[in-house]
Amino acid sequence: MGLAIITGGSRGIGAAIAEKLAAEGHDIVISCASSVDKAEAVAEKCRAHGVKALARQWDVADNNACAAALAEIKDTLGVPYILVNNAGITRDGLMVRMKEEQFDEVIRTNLKGAFNMLSQVGAMMMRAKQGRIINIASVAGIAGNPGQINYSAAKAGLIGMTRTASKELGARGVTVNAVAPGFIDTDMTQSLPDAVKEGAKKQISLGRFGTPEEVAGVVAFLASDAASYVTGQTIVVDGGMI
Ligand code: NAP
Repeated sequence: MGLAIITGGSRGIGAAIAEKLAAEGHDIVISCASSVDKAEAVAEKCRAHGVKALARQWDVADNNACAAALAEIKDTLGVPYILVNNAGITRDGLMVRMKEEQFDEVIRTNLKGAFNMLSQVGAMMMRAKQGRIINIASVAGIAGNPGQINYSAAKAGLIGMTRTASKELGARGVTVNAVAPGFIDTDMTQSLPDAVKEGAKKQISLGRFGTPEEVAGVVAFLASDAASYVTGQTIVVDGGMI
């Protein structure tokens, strides 16, 4: 079992992924933007599975901050075997009204942040000749979603990056895949108006939002030996929505 880094592991989907991978015996590093206490609480739950777990705060969109965090991680826990690019934000608004800052902020965190981690951890994994990278995209990046032109552009970009990285890293034994969740019950969807939530449920074959654990299970599969010949793929986890 190796070391897993999960960006944005302080809550929601990232926290569920961290706990699932810890339960499978991986050491864990969780990052967060500001909720250090929550990240530490998730790390504590991971440690209950008998693995090492660190919680750290850094902005994934800051390339130097990623480099500093990775240097510390390598010194204390070694080279990561798994990277889950999960950190993400929304700044929703209709395209014609969207402010430049709303667009830039989402691209910066959701797309450039993933690139910063992917490129630096990818280099470490290439040298180690092994590794699993899983990018958390979204169905918005495949099907589009009104009010999310920034978010859907970032997530479509992330799917493109997944394909390219899988081709660049494959010869060194590193797989790169994406998971595209639909509506999942987290803080991110909690703030949606009830009418939007009810409308969304009507589009979902299973008639309900997913749980973070249902996304974590697919991530754990992609990180496992069972998925050793799967790379460059995007697995949709949306209860049959798109
Ligand atoms: P969430 O509950 O809002 O949690 C977001 C996480 O990202 C938090 O841990 C947050 O840290 C961290 N984060 C945000 N900006 C960051 C930055 N600049 N640097 C480092 N960490 C940062 O979100 P979620 O619903 O679990 O979503 C997780 C991922 O799944 C995101 O990429 C999201 O786009 C994707 N997704 C979610 C859904 C859904 O329905 N929920 C659907 C499709 C895709 P703090 O706690 O410190 O703020």
